[in-house]
Amino acid sequence: MDMTRIRDRMVEHHVTRRGIRDPSVIEAMRTVPREKFVPPGSEEFAYEDAPLSIGEGQTISQPFIVALMLEKANLDAGDTVLEVGTGSGYASALMSRVARHVYSIERHERLALEAKERFEKLGYRNIDVRVGDGSKGWAEAAPFDAIVVSASAPEVPTALKEQLGLGGRLIIPVGRGEGQRLKRLTRTGDAAFEEEDLGGVLFVPLIGEDAWTATHPMYTATAPSLPGTVASEPSSPHDGQGAGMRKIDKLPALPEGVLDHSEFQQRFWAVQRFSWIVFTLLLVICLLGLLGRGGPFSRQTLLLPEGSVDFPVISRWNAPEDMTVTFTPSSEDRVFTIDPAFLQSFSVQGIDPPQKATFARDGRIGYVFPADPAGPTQIVFRLQTQLPGPRRALIGMGGETRTQSTFIFP
Ligand code: SAH
Repeated sequence: MDMTRIRDRMVEHHVTRRGIRDPSVIEAMRTVPREKFVPPGSEEFAYEDAPLSIGEGQTISQPFIVALMLEKANLDAGDTVLEVGTGSGYASALMSRVARHVYSIERHERLALEAKERFEKLGYRNIDVRVGDGSKGWAEAAPFDAIVVSASAPEVPTALKEQLGLGGRLIIPVGRGEGQRLKRLTRTGDAAFEEEDLGGVLFVPLIGEDAWTATHPMYTATAPSLPGTVASEPSSPHDGQGAGMRKIDKLPALPEGVLDHSEFQQRFWAVQRFSWIVFTLLLVICLLGLLGRGGPFSRQTLLLPEGSVDFPVISRWNAPEDMTVTFTPSSEDRVFTIDPAFLQSFSVQGIDPPQKATFARDGRIGYVFPADPAGPTQIVFRLQTQLPGPRRALIGMGGETRTQSTFIFP
């Protein structure tokens, strides 16, 4: 599959048309292979504008929100950037294509290691990854020209503000659950910050010492959006950037993303599993010949006052079949009749024990068997199937007749 074209289409649909203008961000999104940052098997979803699960209950942010954060971070070619919440590494990878150096911190060791491997494979050498609590920033590498936080904090962590250089931008989602707001803080002086609200978002929680903890008052009041919830686009950006950005208002409000995505995926898998089960069952049934000739459904027994007739309902053309007629004990001769239609389905090759007499009357053929008051008598008709297709005929014992149907496979 040509991923470059798919990627270009993703950038066109989900990024530029929605108001992202920064050429360096757009270029980075055209370059970084997002499919390399999603778990194996999810590649086909890599270019949907949806967050995807990357394990540990975390998600890779959706392309639009990453683009928005990067654009708002105003990255410059000479910048040193910090990302808090490396996750898959996708956002850091994008930033590394724009800025000079990226420091990226992630609390889950496995995710950090995987991200590091990805950067190595892709030859992105200007990214440093570290396992740790990003709510404390990365003091040794500070000051930063920009800090991008990819998980939502209860308040803006002090350490992050302190590690911003003068003029530095901090992009951070703040708040709980669906009440999260994306914020941009710009350091304008030693202790002066300009704060802007960039709209409503939905991120996984930033968990750490200066973030959400089990004892944080907001955490205990109501749990913040739990792992598994998502990064989503702002529902109401306050800094409309022309027609493209205004379109966001028309998009479904929150949440959008991995919850829906995994729900969809689960449903998809359920349908797939169900289909496989049905298919396998059918296959097994066919293999066992359960539905075919000789299977448990291939014969039927008709009950009549004077006895019963066991005959084939599923048969194969030109194959021998038996029809067993059982007469109840009687002191009178018994008569078994068939109509001409029966002889279109079957020809009678033999009767065991043989009949005493045969007659034709009213277009029917009758077979007469001697009386036996001692016990039931069984007579086997050896039949040869004739015309393929569904066949109906009349059979009778004494004065009673029944319709009998047989399907003869060609
Ligand atoms: N930017 C990522 C998305 C990350 S989702 C991407 O593009 O794939 C948020 C990440 O933040 C998760 O991986 C989560 O484990 C991490 N995280 C949460 N709290 C953290 C903290 N205090 N320090 C570092 N990482 C944290």
